[in-house]
Amino acid sequence: MQTQEQKDLIQNVIEQAKLRGIMKYLPNGELTHAPFSLSPYSMNQSVFEEMAELTIPFSELMIRVSRNTDFLAHHLEPIAAIDPFLKMLMECRSNEITQNCQLLVQRNDFFIANIKQNHDKNSYPSNEIQERTVLRQVELNTVSASFPFLITKLNQLHKQLFEQNELPRVIKNNPLDAVVDAFAYAIQNYGISDSVMLLIVQNDEKNIFDQLGLELHLWEKYKIATVRKTLTEIYTDGKLNQGHLVVNGKIVAVTYYRAGYTPYDFHAQEAFKGRKLVEASSTIQVPDLEMQLSGMKKIQQILTKKEVLSDFVSEDISVRLLKTFAKMHTLDEITNTSEFQISPAKWLSENADDYVLKPQREGGGNNFYGSEILKLIPSIKKEEQKAFIMMEKIKAETHSSLQLVNGQAETLNCVSEIGRFGVCFAEKGEVKTNLDAGYLVRTKAKNKNEGGVCAGFSCLNSIADFD
Ligand code: ADP
Ligand code: MG
Repeated sequence: MQTQEQKDLIQNVIEQAKLRGIMKYLPNGELTHAPFSLSPYSMNQSVFEEMAELTIPFSELMIRVSRNTDFLAHHLEPIAAIDPFLKMLMECRSNEITQNCQLLVQRNDFFIANIKQNHDKNSYPSNEIQERTVLRQVELNTVSASFPFLITKLNQLHKQLFEQNELPRVIKNNPLDAVVDAFAYAIQNYGISDSVMLLIVQNDEKNIFDQLGLELHLWEKYKIATVRKTLTEIYTDGKLNQGHLVVNGKIVAVTYYRAGYTPYDFHAQEAFKGRKLVEASSTIQVPDLEMQLSGMKKIQQILTKKEVLSDFVSEDISVRLLKTFAKMHTLDEITNTSEFQISPAKWLSENADDYVLKPQREGGGNNFYGSEILKLIPSIKKEEQKAFIMMEKIKAETHSSLQLVNGQAETLNCVSEIGRFGVCFAEKGEVKTNLDAGYLVRTKAKNKNEGGVCAGFSCLNSIADFD
C-alpha cells in the first residue's frame, strides 16, 4: 500500500514526465505519459561494458551483410516464395544502383541471463555448478529503432529525481544527440543546401512524440527541416528530379523509415509504389532495403552459425559475437532432424516452454510462446516451416520495479531488456563513422512475453550507476 505522501510524489513525477514530452497516445486516442519505471535497473558492470563495446562490430557486420546481395537472396528468396510480404519487399529493389551512402541507425536488444555452468572438470571440486551472468541477444533492429527521444528525456527526469534525493544515480544516456548528429552528418554529406529529411510514418502512430522530438532537435541544433509522409503520400506527392527525390518542392537528402516494416503499412498498392519511388532515387535511406532485409529473423538465425559468421567478421570478433547468441533453428531443421534422438513431435512438446517461435515480422506482437507454439505448428505447412525461427527462450534475471503505466503505479517482479543504439555511416560499403549511441532499457513484468512500450507492457527505464 502506498501512503498519501507516496501517491502525491508519484503523481508529481508523472506531471514532470509530461512536461518533458514523455508522452504517447492510447488506442482510443487519449493522450497519456509513456510508461516508465522508477526503479533504475542495476546490472553487472562488466556485462554493461561488454554490451557497449559490441555496438561497433555489430554495425560493421550489418553493413557487410547488407552489401552481400547474393547472400541475402540465397537465404531470403526461398522464404519470399511462400511469404507475400517478404516477396513484395524484395520486389521494391531497383535494378540500377542509385545510392552510394548508407546510414544505419540500429538498436541491438539483449537480456542479461544467469546461467548455470559446470565448473572446470579438472579443478577441485570437479562437479561444482557455477552461476555466470551473460549477455544474450534478442534481436538487432535495423529498421525503425525507436525511443531515442523518449529515453533521453526519461534519463533527464531520472537525473533530476536523483538530485532531489528521490532516486539512485543513473548512467547518463543521450541517444537523441547521437542520432540527430548522424542525420545531420548524412544530410550534409548529400551536399544539397536546403535539403530536408523525409520521415516515413504510419497512418495512426501512437509513438509520435518520439518522432516529433527527433525532428525538433534536428531543427534546433542544425536548422534542418523534416517532412512527414506515409508511403502512400510519397507516391502521390513525391517525384524524381535528376535522380533526387523531391517532396513538397524540397530535395530529400535522407529518408528515415518509421514505417514500412509490417504488411499493414502496404495495404494500399500506392504504398508499394511510394517505397519503389524512394528506392529509385539517390536519397540516403535509413535503412536501405538491403539493410532492412539484413535485419530479418532468418538472417539473424543463419549468422549464429560460426562458419557463416566468419565470412563477415574476423576470428576475434566472431568469438565475441557468438558468445551473445541464443540457440536458433528454423522450424524445418527441428522437424527434419534426428539430432534430438526422439521424434520431433515429442521434442517439441517437451521443449515448447523453452523456445519462442518467430515468423519473419517486425514491430512486436508476432511471436508465439509455449502452448501457443504447439497449437500453431499443425497449421504450418511443410514448405512454410523454413520461414519460422525457433529461438531459445532467454531466462532473464529478475528484479523488483515500480512501474508507472497510464497514471497508475504498481510494483512488480520484472525483467529488463537493454538495447544499445548504434549509428554507422558507410560509403560504397566502406565505414566512415561508427559509434555507440547510448542505451534503451525496457522493464516489464516477468510473466509478460512481448515487450511493447506503446502496447503498455514495458516501461522505459535507465541503468543505475555502478558506484
Ligand atoms: P519484434 O521484431 O517483433 O520486436 P523480437 O524478436 O524483438 O521481435 O521479440 C519481441 C519481444 O519478445 C522482445 O522484445 C522480448 O521481450 C521477447 N522475446 C523475443 N525473443 C525472446 C527470447 N529468445 N527469449 C525471451 N524473450 C524474447
Ligand atoms: Mg524487437
